[in-house]
Parts: sequence; structure tokens; C-alpha cells
Amino acid sequence: MSNRLERRKNASILRAGLNSAKYRCLACEKANLNRNKEHFWPRWLIRFAEATKEPVSWLGKDLPAEAVQIPLCADCNSAFGHDLEGPMSELLPRISVGQSVTDPECELLVRWLWKFEGLAWNAFNFHRSEARYSSKFSLRERVIGKDSIQGIRGSLVVAMALAHRNDPGLHDWSLGMDSGLGTHDAIFASGVFRNVAMMVSFADFARLIPPMFSTYQLAGERQVSGALVLKPEFVFPLVSDAEIVTARGSGRLKVEHERFGERQNTNSALVTNRPRLEIPHPALRTMGS
Ligand SMILES: [Zn+2]
Repeated sequence: MSNRLERRKNASILRAGLNSAKYRCLACEKANLNRNKEHFWPRWLIRFAEATKEPVSWLGKDLPAEAVQIPLCADCNSAFGHDLEGPMSELLPRISVGQSVTDPECELLVRWLWKFEGLAWNAFNFHRSEARYSSKFSLRERVIGKDSIQGIRGSLVVAMALAHRNDPGLHDWSLGMDSGLGTHDAIFASGVFRNVAMMVSFADFARLIPPMFSTYQLAGERQVSGALVLKPEFVFPLVSDAEIVTARGSGRLKVEHERFGERQNTNSALVTNRPRLEIPHPALRTMGS
């Protein structure tokens, strides 16, 4: 094939890839006709955080929380609702008043935080045909699949801390992730939801979690005893204190996780991650992008 034909073919592959990306579900990555626009922040969470007056930051824009929408297929939306949002809509209010949680509830927190991080990552990266959430799992498989957490469960630490009250004069409580989007790391995630600051970290970096957080290292296997393992404490006077401490702590934690993820990917070892296709697609070079 001549170079010219080759270039045309590559350009057409790229167009097809970008076009299909528009119609892929962000969670299962399937091109699915039964695709809906779904709320990134679930409605129950917006209500719980009373986040209706102030905009949230999304892909560089300030939007009402209700307006942040993503393409999800109906099946993923239903599965996330059943497996994550339903249980979390009962758990988060309990945590926010200082109730303790069990080991399986900590796993739920991990999966729930990973869902937000993963959806945001995919939303940012889907237009890059070489970008993949993970070489092992789709986002859906990772956050609600039974097998995806095996092997690393016992290396995960969940951290939580509570704020006493909202800042004077503010209507909305907190709603947002603080961990940012990395290139290699898909473990660390953090955010503040209403008055609850929470993080999931790799255990090796738990020493970097701000000391006012209560922490729990998950057991290697899911503990079904119902024992309470982590009690969140009211340590921040105001929600803005929780946001500032969580955001500052998250910067250093994310950097360390990124370094670690990069090393792991280079060595092909187990942990996360999201090794991506590193060789640029020839069409990308042809298109000069
Ligand atoms: Zn889907």
C-alpha cells in the first residue's frame, strides 16, 4: 500500500475511533445504542449535600451539579444504582453523624470513590483513542466486579474525618473530589461530601494521610462478621476546613501514587493500573495531534 493510501486508512481509523468514542458508555466502554446521559453526581447526593446553589467545577467549567452529565448505558446506570448508589445513599448519612462502619462498608466506600475518579478520567480521556482506563478491567468491571479488588484489598486504607458544620452564610455543603486525575494511578481518590471527608490510599502511603483522619486498612478478604472497624471523628470546625486539609493532603498523596503507579506499570507488576498503549497510533501522528 502506498504511503498515501496508508495515511488515508489511518486517518479513517482515527475518525471511526473518535466517532465511536462519542457513543461508547463511559463505564463498560461498549458502543451501546441504549445509552443515556446520566448525572455524574447522583441526585440523592446532590440533595444530601444540598448542593443546589453553587456551581461545581467540571472539565474546566463551572456548572450546576445537576447539569454535569456523562454518557452511560442504561445497564451500567442501573448496576451502579443498585450496587453503589443505593447502599451509599444509606451509608453516607450514617457516617456524616459519626457512626462507625464495617469492613464491607469500607470496600463500598472504595468502590464508590473509584467510580467518580474513573468516570472523570474516562470523560477526560475518551477522545484519545489510545487511552484506556485500565488494561485489565473496564471501569464497570473494576468498580462493581467481584474479582477486581482481589489481591489488593488488604493493601487499601480508607480514611475519614468529619466537619461539625457548614461555613456561615453558605447554603451548599461540600460536593467534590479532591484527588485530581493522574496518568498511572487509579488507587488514590479523595473527596468531601456534605461534611464527610474521605480518602482511599495505598497502604504504603497511609503515613501521608493527614493525622486528623481516622483510618482503616481493609482485610485481605471481605469480613462478614459485621464488626465495626472505623469510626469517623468530628475534627474540622467547618466544612471549608475539611476541604482545605483534604485538598492539601491529596496533592502529596496523588504524587506518590503516581510515581508508584508508573514504576508498577514499567515493571508490569500487579497493582493497578492503567497501563495505556504507549506507542502513538500512527494515525495520530498523521493527523499531527
Ligand atoms: Zn455501560
